[in-house]
Amino acid sequence: MAKKQFKTESKKLMDLMINSIYTNKDIFLRELISNSSDALDKLYYNSLTDRKIKVNKEDLFIKIYVDEDNKTITISDNGIGMTKDELENNLGTIAKSGSEVFKAENEHKEDIDIIGKFGVGFYSAFMVASNIKVISKGYGEKDAYVWESSGIDGYTINETNKDTVGTDIIITLKEDTEDVKYSEYLHTHKIQELIKKYSDYITYPIKMDINKSVPKQGTKDEYEDKVVEETLNSMVPIWKKTNVDDSEYNSYYMDKFVDYNEPIMHIKSNVEGKVNYRSLIFIPSKAPYDYYTKEYEKGLQLYSNGVLIMDKCKELVPDYYSFIKGIVDSEDLSLNISRETLQQDNVLQTIAKSLDTKITKELESLLNDNREKYEEFFKEFGMNIKFGCYNNFGMDKDKLKDLLLFTSSKDKKLVTLKEISERSKDKIYYVCGESIDKIDNLPVVDNYKDKDIEILYCDNYLDEFVMQVLQKYDGKELINIQKEETDLSTDEEKDELKKFNEDNKKLLDVIKTSITDLSDVKFTNKLSKHPVSLSSTGDVTIEMEKIINAMPTDETLNAKKVLEINKNHPIADKLIKLEKDKKKDDIINISKVLYAQARLIEGLPIDNPTEITNLICEELSK
Ligand code: ADP
Repeated sequence: MAKKQFKTESKKLMDLMINSIYTNKDIFLRELISNSSDALDKLYYNSLTDRKIKVNKEDLFIKIYVDEDNKTITISDNGIGMTKDELENNLGTIAKSGSEVFKAENEHKEDIDIIGKFGVGFYSAFMVASNIKVISKGYGEKDAYVWESSGIDGYTINETNKDTVGTDIIITLKEDTEDVKYSEYLHTHKIQELIKKYSDYITYPIKMDINKSVPKQGTKDEYEDKVVEETLNSMVPIWKKTNVDDSEYNSYYMDKFVDYNEPIMHIKSNVEGKVNYRSLIFIPSKAPYDYYTKEYEKGLQLYSNGVLIMDKCKELVPDYYSFIKGIVDSEDLSLNISRETLQQDNVLQTIAKSLDTKITKELESLLNDNREKYEEFFKEFGMNIKFGCYNNFGMDKDKLKDLLLFTSSKDKKLVTLKEISERSKDKIYYVCGESIDKIDNLPVVDNYKDKDIEILYCDNYLDEFVMQVLQKYDGKELINIQKEETDLSTDEEKDELKKFNEDNKKLLDVIKTSITDLSDVKFTNKLSKHPVSLSSTGDVTIEMEKIINAMPTDETLNAKKVLEINKNHPIADKLIKLEKDKKKDDIINISKVLYAQARLIEGLPIDNPTEITNLICEELSK
């Protein structure tokens, strides 16, 4: 067959592989072994779900051969194998997962050290190989094929002979250079070391023939060199191992879930009881590159007693924790559980519930024990928690509310509801806006600052919805200070204000009829130095109006707006005087400007900018 070209992305990546001098070349073996292990998993899984396929788990293995004379290493497995098309599709293009990460990365940076960050599968072998042959026979296939490539200039696929099903990957090592001794991979102890380090938890035996000095039979004290087949790995999956240190978990995570950032934390459980299971969950430190796309699928790997039965079991993960990665292994799960029966599976439901509780508890502990790390987590995934709080009519709000963080008006640092609740008297006040700075400058906030009352600054568009669904925390009502009815004044002050408004009813009526989208106008004592502010009454707040109306739907919402004019501001005196002088037109003009001003402060658009700006200019010219 004529030489075929690699796809462009594969070429780029391969180029990086071949020419990378600084990265960790050792990982090629881990990558190939992990592919073999996947191929064995697939075959075994198929045999469990399809009676026609007969496979014993004990017969499945990976074997490594080293040929020092020809400088080759062969990684052989009796897994599912590849057909001719699969060789073409799987090895002619870089693995999809890898290539997308590669693309996502390249959007930001020109030159990247991709291999140093995580494994990219099969192609990593080109770091050490001058030539790679993949001889494979797919399960149920008659013919075997060999895929061969010496690097960037392409590959060939030809028919070949192979008796057994599975794959042999034959790597011819590059010539040694001054800096890199590729030939060290031909040494048994090097291979042993790499398997122990990177592939110990693979659940199939990784075998190798090893030259050993063994006692000679029938003799005393005499030894002979013999080739003995040994299994190099302990075959205990990492979630069953004890004494695993953090760095081992981290590199397991980074390799298995293709992330070059260490996870924020791992959560390990070994639950025995009505349902038995082990789990190893990771919380990533960064959202995966495709997290906000439709393609992202939540889920955990599901094992039944060490046998992989599903790659992404979404039933185990609530939406608000959709970012978690990891595995669940339970002997209580039936092996031929199907996608259809998953939702009714009691064992699975029990595990999902228990994991949910465990993760929540662990996040709470992180919040209490390592605030900095938790805030990092919250910055990345806080939206999920907020969404979880108000989704499904707030069904999960009680579970999640203590994981929430908001910015405090005091020091602009993040606080929990519990913290502010402990410092607040009988109510917890909050205010919503686009950014912390904008909120901090809102006229209504001044009064609270003057009275030294802490407020929560809610700058996320979900916050308002979260607050509405929560309503209370620890018996203390959550109060939006932008609501018309929120008022800090004493009863006496309230009475006085009421009278003031009644006395000026005529004036207020003129304003109200001239600005039709207002539901009310009144004088207020909420504002210390600012002339006006806009509040709302009823369920829809101004912040909600903004959010809903910014959405790409036809639905529009209108908050019932109240224009509040500072009773102690010179503008109030002016308006009252104009009313006395029966200057209705002037009142209308000033009110229009005041209303536009209030809208602008709230971040709302104005419909008549020309009119308003001309009015201002007119006033300035007087
Ligand atoms: P990934 O493992 O991330 O999918 P790779 O580039 O390592 O990417 O491998 C590409 C594909 O080639 C695999 O998904 C698998 O389908 C196939 N493959 C690789 N090695 C083997 C093997 N030993 N046996 C069967 N299929 C394999």
